[in-house]
Amino acid sequence: MHATPSLPTAAATDLDALRAQLGGAVATPGDASYDALRASWNLTFDQRPALVVEAADGDDVVAALRFADAHDLAVTVQSTGHGAGQTCDGGLLVRTGRLREVAVDAAARTLRVGAGARWTDVIPHTAPHGLAPLVGFNAHVGVAGYTLGGGLGWLGRTHGLAVDSVRALDVVLPDATRVRATAETEAELFWGLRGGGSNFGVVVALELELVAAPELFGGMVLYPGARAAEVIAAYAEWIATVPDEVTSNCAVIRIPPAPAVPEPLRGLTVVAIGACVLGGAARAQELLAPVRSLGDPVVDMMRPLAPGDLGEVAMDPVDPMPAAGHAELVRALTPELQALLASMAEGERPLAIVEVRHLGAAIARAGTTTPLAPLDGELMFHVEAATPPGPAGEAARAAVAELAATLKPHATGAMLPSFLGEIETGPARIAQAYTPQSRPRLAELKRTCDPGDRFRFGRPIPRDWAD
Ligand SMILES: Cc1cc2nc3c(=O)[nH]c(=O)nc-3n(C[C@H](O)[C@H](O)[C@H](O)COP(=O)(O)OP(=O)(O)OC[C@H]3O[C@@H](n4cnc5c(N)ncnc54)[C@H](O)[C@@H]3O)c2cc1C
Repeated sequence: MHATPSLPTAAATDLDALRAQLGGAVATPGDASYDALRASWNLTFDQRPALVVEAADGDDVVAALRFADAHDLAVTVQSTGHGAGQTCDGGLLVRTGRLREVAVDAAARTLRVGAGARWTDVIPHTAPHGLAPLVGFNAHVGVAGYTLGGGLGWLGRTHGLAVDSVRALDVVLPDATRVRATAETEAELFWGLRGGGSNFGVVVALELELVAAPELFGGMVLYPGARAAEVIAAYAEWIATVPDEVTSNCAVIRIPPAPAVPEPLRGLTVVAIGACVLGGAARAQELLAPVRSLGDPVVDMMRPLAPGDLGEVAMDPVDPMPAAGHAELVRALTPELQALLASMAEGERPLAIVEVRHLGAAIARAGTTTPLAPLDGELMFHVEAATPPGPAGEAARAAVAELAATLKPHATGAMLPSFLGEIETGPARIAQAYTPQSRPRLAELKRTCDPGDRFRFGRPIPRDWAD
């Protein structure tokens, strides 16, 4: 049972004045819109803010943060809630979902995008120009949270992480001042935001570089789960040979027995190889042949892709659900790790997906002008489970935690902020996202930008990280 949060009396008195200033919406507990406005994509983030402001524009964000400053409210910002981190209980939750402007400068290959946009809002504007952003495996996540948290997608091995595509950020700081951060102006803030995300204020718009994506080929090929060991061994051999323009994953997927799933796939456990090749179909088919020709696939969905297909290749769930995940970087897909991944296809397990994503190439070289720890593993081992309330959800969460513990001895220790997951959330886990040299610098930036420690939810950077 949650206690109902409430605003301090003075703040409650000033609420009508705030409402009058905003183009967007305000909700407090008891309002009809409160539950919808506090909801996250991940339903386990059952946050209970004392106040929600759904901003209609940057001025609304300024007004909301001025209100928080005047009434000493802690603040967090959320777009979709795919990766909300520590929940905002009793504070101000700024929702950005209405900040959805998208403007493409095709000649300059840049994009200006509101902080509430999802990749699905952006791609229709870039695709007609043969351009693509560094979109994720999932196009339904928010551009801002994804990019500020690292941003690992299907073009990663060719073009690196989305965080490196940022050219400018329009930000409202905790004291409600509005600044533009670039490599030249507010350079320290620009450095920290690209990885430090919601620790330093609310980003209201991002300017990002786009990449040329005239031809793409890829998709998934699914084999029966019973063949997991053989398919994973073939995948391990194959990734040692592929060039940088191939980004891929290999996943044990338990397809839910849901009516929305086509009948032949419903309820199956499969081992899937997903890939995206930046280039023409003939060369791509040649590159992909070793993993498409293992014989008798359940289905081979590899094909020429439009940029708009990229975020759908992995067939991730779209609708909100309760979920818990964990990821670790590993140096190689050793026989021991191949066996571990293959074992995930055996018996009954409450894990929706256990995958390895092939990193290296441009991903290994990314993030050098940010605080992020270099992604020093050749692969990311990643698990996600549905965790509904009750014993089934608890068992699923325990299974994720058990796999996380099994992976620890193999892990390099680095991790992207957006893959820190829901199992470990303390400062030691957050530290994994940043280089040791960056941590005291981030703490200093945090103390300077946010002296009142208002932005203390999400993935909070400890203010006392020292050399
Ligand atoms: C199904 C699923 C698929 C995913 N696929 C990928 C993937 O392919 N690649 C990948 O890299 N990650 C992926 N993620 C991980 C991660 O959740 C997202 O990258 C990221 O969190 C999405 O951001 P969001 O804005 O949608 O989420 P939110 O939960 O709204 O935000 C995530 C974090 O960013 C902060 N934030 C959001 N907006 C702002 C803002 N305007 N200013 C400052 N801080 C802000 C939030 O406070 C929060 O800490 C996936 C997660 C899920 C659940």
